[in-house]
Amino acid sequence: MQHPMIYLFDIDGTLVSTGGAGTRAMGWAFEQVHGRRDACDSFSLGGMTDRAIIRKALRGIGAMDDEPAIDTVLAAYLHRLKVEMAAAPDARVLAGVARALEVAAARPYSAIGLGTGNTRHGAEIKLGAMGLMQHFEFGGFGCDHEDRGEVLAAGARRGAQRLARRLDDCKVLVIGDTPRDVYAARAIGAQCLAVATGPFDLDVLRATDADWVVADLTDPVALDALRGA
Ligand SMILES: [Mg+2]
Repeated sequence: MQHPMIYLFDIDGTLVSTGGAGTRAMGWAFEQVHGRRDACDSFSLGGMTDRAIIRKALRGIGAMDDEPAIDTVLAAYLHRLKVEMAAAPDARVLAGVARALEVAAARPYSAIGLGTGNTRHGAEIKLGAMGLMQHFEFGGFGCDHEDRGEVLAAGARRGAQRLARRLDDCKVLVIGDTPRDVYAARAIGAQCLAVATGPFDLDVLRATDADWVVADLTDPVALDALRGA
C-alpha cells in the first residue's frame, strides 16, 4: 500500500493570483487604522503569514505591535478583502490548478488541504471568490501561528487526523511559490513542489532545496510529483 499523502497547497501565487487585491486590502487597512497606506511597501510579502506581515509593518511605522494591535489591522484587512475580491478584474486561478487538484484527488489515501499564511477567513474569501474553496477540507492557516513552519505543522496534523493515520506514517507534500514555502516545508520534514507562478522565478526557486521546481502546474513533472510517483 502507498503511504497516505497529505497535500498542503499555498494560495497566493500557487492556486490563484488575486490581481493585487490582498495587497490593496492591507494598504487600506493600515490607512484606516494608522493613516499609513504605505506601511507594507518596503518589504516582500510573499510567503509571509498575515500576522507576520502586520507585525513587521507595525514595527516599520513605529506603532505598537502587540496581539490586539495586530487583531485590529487584521479585522480591517478582512473586511476590505471581501470588497476587493468582489471587484478584482485581474484575479484568476493559475495555470494547471484544476488538473493538479484532479490528480491529487485521484490519488488513493490522500487528503487535500491548504498550507497558507492567510487566516482561515481570508482563505475562504479568496478561494470562495474563485470557486475553489470546496476542494479543501482542512488546512494550516495564518491564524494558527505567525511562523509558516508551525502553520504547515498544524495543517499536516489535521491532514493525518482526516486520514485517521499517524502523521509519521504519512507523506506530506507542500506546494508553494516562494522560498519561504520551501524552508517551512523543510522545517517539518515535508517534500516541496515549488511553482514559479508567483513573484519568484525559476532560478530563485532552483537555488532552494525544493524537491521539484516547475514553471507552473501544467508541467508533467508537477503532475508526477502530485501522484506521489
Ligand atoms: Mg504564495
